[in-house]
Amino acid sequence: RAKADIGRVVCFYESKMDEAARERHTLAQDLRRAVELDQLELHYQVQTSVRTGEVCGYEVLARWNHPERGKVPPAEFIPIAEESGIILAIGEWVLRTACKQAASWDKRYKIAVNLSPVQFAHADLARLVHEVLLETGLSPSRLELEITESTIIADKTRTLHVLRQIKALGVTIAIDDFGTGYSSLDTLRSFPFDKIKLDRSFMSEVEGSIQAKAIVRAVLTLGRSLEIPVLAEGVETNHQLEILRVEGCDEAQGFFLGRPKPVGQIFLPEESIDAEFPVSFSGRIPLV
Ligand code: C2E
Ligand code: MG
Ligand code: MG
Ligand code: MG
Repeated sequence: RAKADIGRVVCFYESKMDEAARERHTLAQDLRRAVELDQLELHYQVQTSVRTGEVCGYEVLARWNHPERGKVPPAEFIPIAEESGIILAIGEWVLRTACKQAASWDKRYKIAVNLSPVQFAHADLARLVHEVLLETGLSPSRLELEITESTIIADKTRTLHVLRQIKALGVTIAIDDFGTGYSSLDTLRSFPFDKIKLDRSFMSEVEGSIQAKAIVRAVLTLGRSLEIPVLAEGVETNHQLEILRVEGCDEAQGFFLGRPKPVGQIFLPEESIDAEFPVSFSGRIPLV
């Protein structure tokens, strides 16, 4: 009887796994056509100076509008795109589209584009970046590329080689989600980063946890010593921003400063005002 139960449990898990695998397979097929069917869209999230509040740039975040499922978040479709190799086409589309859009802005803000480890492994990435810059006319100094430690761990030598080629073009490199990987400190020693993006998990705890605050402080000190600016991700409250100001953080990004928005919405006059936050009423009060 116990054996039969185990059998049933195993069957249950197997069918669940099949289901998950089928689901991924279906999504991968849909994703394959997403670029040509124009289902992908770019959103931009503002990055600001902590000291002055000025806009420094925008991070580019991919969005997938699935015809039946609605909006599929990147946390769901990027891993599928990576395991199926579709990330190469998507990554190229994201880079080209973002550079094209940014080249047409009259404000000369920087854009930060996320790169997948797969793009380092399979594509002549430096050549692609070079081609896209020439094609779109975007100044290389306005492009930042974000990589995570998983890219470095996948192949250190190759990553270093490709990063040097990319930097030679005048493009800058940021280390994303810093503090959550395995070899953070060693990574800072041997890679030519222009910015450290402190993972948002530290921000979510910085108000209540002495440990989190100590780590934030330590990373800021490290950044200053290495002369690499630090950007704090995931700033959701004014209090968090205040802590960053006191601790001397360079830049911040997060819902408090602005949610990711479609390109048509980022330069509206109310660009710094989010609906979730109280706004002082500045319009004319209608006389009734
Ligand atoms: P990431 O590069 O670390 O991007 C920041 C993520 O944090 C974004 O999630 C953003 O919406 C979210 N975020 C920003 N501020 C806040 C905040 O205050 N609170 C909270 N809770 N979240 C905040 P998103 O857009 O869902 O993207 C998730 C991840 O997917 C990205 O993390 C990045 O790793 C990946 N991704 C997105 N677009 C691309 C892309 O074009 N290419 C590649 N390779 N990866 C991408
Ligand atoms: Mg990023
Ligand atoms: Mg990040
Ligand atoms: Mg992340």
